[in-house]
Amino acid sequence: MDDPILVVNCGSSSLKIALFTCQDERLINILAENLSTPTARIRISGESGSTPVSGGGSHYEALNEIIGLLRQRGLIADAPAAIGHRVVHGGETFKEPSLIDAQVLDAIRSCSALAPLHNPVNLVGIEAAQQLFPGTPQVAVFDTAFHQTLPEHAYWYGVPQRYYRDWGVRRYGFHGTSHQFMAEEAARLLGKPVSETSLISAHLGNGCSITAIRDGKSTDTSMGLTPLEGLVMGTRSGDVDPGLFDFLSKKGLAIEEINRVLNRESGLLGLSGETNDMRTLAQLAEEGHAGARLAIEVFCFRLARYIGAMTASLSSLDALVFTGGIGENSALVRHKTLAHLSLLGLTLDEERNRGNGRLSECRIEGNASRYPVLVIPTNEELVIARAAVTHGLQNPT
Ligand code: ADP
Repeated sequence: MDDPILVVNCGSSSLKIALFTCQDERLINILAENLSTPTARIRISGESGSTPVSGGGSHYEALNEIIGLLRQRGLIADAPAAIGHRVVHGGETFKEPSLIDAQVLDAIRSCSALAPLHNPVNLVGIEAAQQLFPGTPQVAVFDTAFHQTLPEHAYWYGVPQRYYRDWGVRRYGFHGTSHQFMAEEAARLLGKPVSETSLISAHLGNGCSITAIRDGKSTDTSMGLTPLEGLVMGTRSGDVDPGLFDFLSKKGLAIEEINRVLNRESGLLGLSGETNDMRTLAQLAEEGHAGARLAIEVFCFRLARYIGAMTASLSSLDALVFTGGIGENSALVRHKTLAHLSLLGLTLDEERNRGNGRLSECRIEGNASRYPVLVIPTNEELVIARAAVTHGLQNPT
């Protein structure tokens, strides 16, 4: 067997590892949680139980133990062929994945001001992998890179130009690897070249974003300078009136508090007063819970509104695509959202919708629908693994 491709997604207290063959086959998923605490543990997806991480439970120690596990199982011999790292923010520097060298590391560091919670921990993962595998090509894959094709009219905010020139204030967009995967998969399913495929792609997980993809390229997206803008999400508010900051500060809330509430206590959680989990909300709504009903209604209406907004960036549409935990599994959300969009001629086949597209090669639109509607399971790790091959093995300059 050829050496596999290791995919590393490093969060502040977690490490998600996936291993792929060079032929796109996923071999295993491993999650390390509660890192840098005494309860740091490693779990293998699809298996019960977990093992503690020794020492202080650092990212390096967790990665080292995970590599030990992969070797024990015969999944890695000496080293992986290449390593792909998820990096959240590539600013305007990174328009595609990059083979990591000292210069690239510096550039990722300099994007940290735009993503202070993410880029520094992504760098921790890169440095841990470099220590363990100094001779292995490592590739950084950026959440923002796919959106570097946004036209100026889509990425400028209506604020003084100097904010952009001095501080880089503009819309960057996120979830780029997922939207890119949607473009490639939808094109394959529709039997078209990706460069001729135009879509509206809705990634609905805990974070939610929607992207207009024109001829395979991102041309508008709902997240902005930060992942807070746009759709209503699990715990994030999405769009609010910017005047809310002044209003709340006059009520005595500090800016950090407002930021925390909008990021962690809003969205489905804030609206329902119960949970950010859509599956639970759907159950509660059925039992008559008013907050849960409200949360779902607001979520779906905002989404429908954004689907309408995305049409401003397209001259044709090959499909509306749903993905992410909610997009792939919630027939209710898809039904309620499309109910707002009859003017666009989008309709669903309710049976196919209830089957989450699994019975019908991802297609869930009704016979009379003006456009196809697809449900496609996302696979961001695969995009990263493919980029590690393309930029780490086939083009190692
Ligand atoms: P993340 O953004 O953290 O990767 P996911 O993509 O896994 O999150 O999405 C998590 C969301 O998907 C949660 O709100 C969860 O309730 C929802 N979800 C998962 N399965 C279902 C389901 N069967 N029905 C409705 N919602 C679901």
